[in-house]
Amino acid sequence: MEAFYSRGLRFSCRRCSDCCRHEPGVVFLSGNDVRLLAEEVKMKYTDIVENYCRWVPVPGGDEQLSLKEKSNFDCIFWDRGCTVYKSRPLQCRTFPFWESTVFSRQTWESLACPGAGKGELRSGDYITACLEQRKAEPVLQRRP
Ligand code: SF4
Repeated sequence: MEAFYSRGLRFSCRRCSDCCRHEPGVVFLSGNDVRLLAEEVKMKYTDIVENYCRWVPVPGGDEQLSLKEKSNFDCIFWDRGCTVYKSRPLQCRTFPFWESTVFSRQTWESLACPGAGKGELRSGDYITACLEQRKAEPVLQRRP
């Protein structure tokens, strides 16, 4: 069956920052994400994990690696804008085209993002490429 987004979906970022700030959330990371961040901030891979990351329990008993948040729930890399924008994690780069958000027309239309459904038309191929990239770069996971 053809995906409901095969003819594309509209999205233009409104720069509201709500996906990076204000609310508790998770920014899950692949190994490549950690490597890129380490290069960007000139730290060792292990120091990024130790200083900027937390392990978040997921269903099934495993934990996945996520960025930390500040006490006000802003992303640890937020400071009047994303301070690692060029090297931001895949989850940020592919927003709002995630498995969970384009799972169905209903999940897409219920997305609380003022830019979703408006602005630039992103092709079905572009959306598929976002989903494929996530599959190719899985989130780091461990059994505690
Ligand atoms: S890494 Fe940058 S784009 Fe991603 S949530 Fe943090 S501040 Fe936002």
